[in-house]
Amino acid sequence: MEANVKAILERAKATAAAAAEKAGKMADAATKKAGDMATMTKLNLQIFDMNTEIDAVYKEIGKISYLTYVGDCGYEAELADKYAQISERLAKIAEIRETIANTKTSLDCPGCGKECSKEDAFCSKCGHKLS
Ligand SMILES: [Zn+2]
Repeated sequence: MEANVKAILERAKATAAAAAEKAGKMADAATKKAGDMATMTKLNLQIFDMNTEIDAVYKEIGKISYLTYVGDCGYEAELADKYAQISERLAKIAEIRETIANTKTSLDCPGCGKECSKEDAFCSKCGHKLS
């Protein structure tokens, strides 16, 4: 009888420990996910800013183009500089996009589109091989 009670208590203790461990792991994952999201927001904001700057340069190029059309000349150097500014920013955007892809802890299953962990070997929904 006493051995029985002891066994039940042992089992309850083990279950509680397992639940606590699971909760801890989930909290860790949530913290990591929140960190990722903050980073992701920052990176997406950088892309947004870069695109805003590119739009402004495009506008300046348009103005120069018009001035050249109406006979004002001597803007070649300025124009080349503006083109370079755009190329520079487009390269930066590509760089940020790559960082975003590398920062993401999840990836979309190519089979069904389910968001899977990068550490998963197979999709938990459709079984498609991942990476
Ligand atoms: Zn899938």
